[in-house]
Amino acid sequence: MTEQMHIPIVIIGAGGTGLCAALAAADAGVDVLVLERDSTPLGSTAMSTGLIPASGTPEQAAQGIVDSPEIFAADIAAKTKGKADPALALALARESAETVAWLRDRHGVPLDLVDGFLYPGHSARRMYGTPSRSGGQLMACLEEACAAAGVMILTQATVTALDSDPDGKIRAVRYARPDGAEEIVGCDALVLGCSGFAGNPDLVARYIPEMTAATFHGHPGNKGDALRWGDALGAATADLGAYQGHGGLAYGHGIPILWPLIMEGGFQVNTAGLRFSNEAAGYSEQAAKVNAQPGHVAWSIFDARLHQLMCAFEDYRDALSAGAIITAPNIAELAASTRLPADALAGTFAAVTQSVNGETADAFGRDFSGKPKLAAPYYAAKVTGALFHTQGGLEVDANARVLRQDRTPFPNLFAGGGAARGISGSGADGYLAGNGLLTATTLGRLAGTAAARMADTPT
Ligand SMILES: Cc1cc2nc3c(=O)[nH]c(=O)nc-3n(C[C@H](O)[C@H](O)[C@H](O)COP(=O)(O)OP(=O)(O)OC[C@H]3O[C@@H](n4cnc5c(N)ncnc54)[C@H](O)[C@@H]3O)c2cc1C
Repeated sequence: MTEQMHIPIVIIGAGGTGLCAALAAADAGVDVLVLERDSTPLGSTAMSTGLIPASGTPEQAAQGIVDSPEIFAADIAAKTKGKADPALALALARESAETVAWLRDRHGVPLDLVDGFLYPGHSARRMYGTPSRSGGQLMACLEEACAAAGVMILTQATVTALDSDPDGKIRAVRYARPDGAEEIVGCDALVLGCSGFAGNPDLVARYIPEMTAATFHGHPGNKGDALRWGDALGAATADLGAYQGHGGLAYGHGIPILWPLIMEGGFQVNTAGLRFSNEAAGYSEQAAKVNAQPGHVAWSIFDARLHQLMCAFEDYRDALSAGAIITAPNIAELAASTRLPADALAGTFAAVTQSVNGETADAFGRDFSGKPKLAAPYYAAKVTGALFHTQGGLEVDANARVLRQDRTPFPNLFAGGGAARGISGSGADGYLAGNGLLTATTLGRLAGTAAARMADTPT
């Protein structure tokens, strides 16, 4: 079959990575085509909170926040216990402020610096989000920007194969249409924005066995195609056991109850009314800890102050509407509503209060200092541990070029976001909030910019 068309830059996947790559290539004046398997560009990006970290920004400086790419990279190194590629982490941290400014000032994505809490492992406030703090809004803005920039997005186009030369140079991609027809498009450069393998149970069982039985709350279309194609080409891969989990998915509702409520003083108990972990260590590693409890569930416990904080998040408002949040005027009634043992729950509240007051050290090593003690009325949400997204993948350099096993770059192949090896170490506990979208947006932007330089026919 011969090429039916040739577009200088082809991008597989219309999530955050793909659309940022497309915008960057379009900025360079090069024609770009995005191929997306779904009928609407959403991906895991639309399921996310849409929070993107950036360090050393003017907004941080204006608010007196001390931060820099070096501080951010040090936070990544600490969270991953040194298991992330330090050069890639620093390179992404250095580019992060530019990504946020570029999205906001050049492409009209309304991003502002989020106030009110720190996610686990971040030593400075550096999260940027859209007004509704939702990935759905982020994706809508990116799609609008792509339309304004003249980016072509072809939906219902599932890429099935890459055509390449013996040296790994990509010549064309093949994709299937809903009627079963196969089409082929030639390209000068290819960007893989088709994410990781969390939507492929076989690959999850192979690389992340601890999450095989966990609820999957990510994008089902992410089947690991980038990994499969990369393997066939001889690409280097790393950290395939790394993932973003979440220890707070509302049980039976499938809505994430986000971690600010924990970081600002909330805690989790199991069905015996007892705490079982340092919840503030991180929400990703908390998924397996929750799933190790009886019934694979826990209750996140908080109060009206934290409820107010959480109302800024669309996910939380959805959880409220869905009836996933219980409230009670006192601990006894909270125990009755949640069917938790009243004495044990009261004892847990008392122990947490002692830690908040600095009277006793927390049994799990959590630092409760500086947080007000919880006060009636109380709130609770029943949660389970979920798999959101994988963090391992194809190794890339600081220009998002996919690397061979000998660490030389392929001639014209790029990857970002979930398709690429992330900066989250090798398991669940290295995931630092925001690093999914950092690698999606920044590697996407860098990939699109570098790919555009390979276009034979700039328009
Ligand atoms: C519930 C949830 C909350 C999250 N919250 C955050 C957060 O607040 N901050 C953060 O940084 N990260 C967060 N993440 C992680 C973040 O969403 C991902 O790291 C990021 O969106 C990955 O972007 P991507 O573009 O690589 O992948 P995606 O957004 O998943 O896009 C990949 C696209 O490729 C398409 N595709 C796949 N295979 C093919 C194929 N063969 N042909 C054509 N198209 C294909 C898919 O359909 C999909 O649309 C969250 C994830 C989840 C699930």
